[in-house]
Amino acid sequence: MGSVVVSLDAELGWGFHDLAEPPTERVEAGRRGWSTCLDLFAEYDVPATWAVVGHLMLESCDGRHADHPAPEGWFRRERTDWKDRKDLRFGADLVDALLDSEVDHEVASHSFSHVLFGRPETDRVLAAAELERSVEIADEWGLSIETFVFPRNDVGHLDVLPEYGIRAYRGASPTRDGVRGIFDTTVRNRSLLVEPTVDDHGLVNVPASLFLFGFEGPVRTVTESVWGDPMVVQARRGIDEAAQRDGLFHVWFHPNNLTNPRDDKRLRAILSYLDRKRRTSPLEVETIGEVARRIDQARGVDGGSIPSSGEVDGATTNPDSRV
Ligand SMILES: [Zn+2]
Ligand SMILES: [Zn+2]
Repeated sequence: MGSVVVSLDAELGWGFHDLAEPPTERVEAGRRGWSTCLDLFAEYDVPATWAVVGHLMLESCDGRHADHPAPEGWFRRERTDWKDRKDLRFGADLVDALLDSEVDHEVASHSFSHVLFGRPETDRVLAAAELERSVEIADEWGLSIETFVFPRNDVGHLDVLPEYGIRAYRGASPTRDGVRGIFDTTVRNRSLLVEPTVDDHGLVNVPASLFLFGFEGPVRTVTESVWGDPMVVQARRGIDEAAQRDGLFHVWFHPNNLTNPRDDKRLRAILSYLDRKRRTSPLEVETIGEVARRIDQARGVDGGSIPSSGEVDGATTNPDSRV
């Protein structure tokens, strides 16, 4: 059985708050994109992994977060440019809409405040605090988080993740973004499938296959008019490959990539193709969490509730026996 995973980084202002000049179009598209994605996923009954920035799930804050070990000034935009932009800093209404959806989406974490885990400035204390806060807030919402998506895919401090109950993450894509990726997959005929693996920390890495909006600007306009939307062509190729070769194809993007109707059209074209394909071939749609559970089951780990051989024997539990 082939499988397709869709994951999104849901962040509103938080994806850009550290940038000197946040890209206005993307920043302002966050809410619109979020709602559009929810509508389209519902229309085609496609569940996705939504990696939500924890801060969005707060009702309010003091704009300082003095007890959070972030660098000086990290939350400055909350007190300056975006002081009156609660719509960019909080998103409880949107998270409610996500939870109210008839589609069984996975709520994952995209950190508490979009700290870049792979940066040398991000020490273990900060990484742990970002996870702790996210898991704590999710818990207040009655949610348990199993999947983590690194802000800007900047992987780091992997050893901290299992300490907060995380069992899976989205790893780096072997396919290059944009035009280069299209060259690799079309001219060089490189596969778009990815292989989930278990890392040294017992975490399931579900790598991305394709970023759906890595092909923008004037080049997009020219190629779209000649070939149709090259990203839709790529995505169809990946979906076909997953069905034919029993593999995993994993697309990702941000709700704020849907800046105008042309972007909505792209997502609709891909979801409708996916929906059609799964009706006619051995193909299913999974979340990252579901992939992780499948992989863990195959290797005899079910996330901790399986008794270890030590417990079965009544002897001392050996945590290593579960791995
Ligand atoms: Zn805040
Ligand atoms: Zn992000």
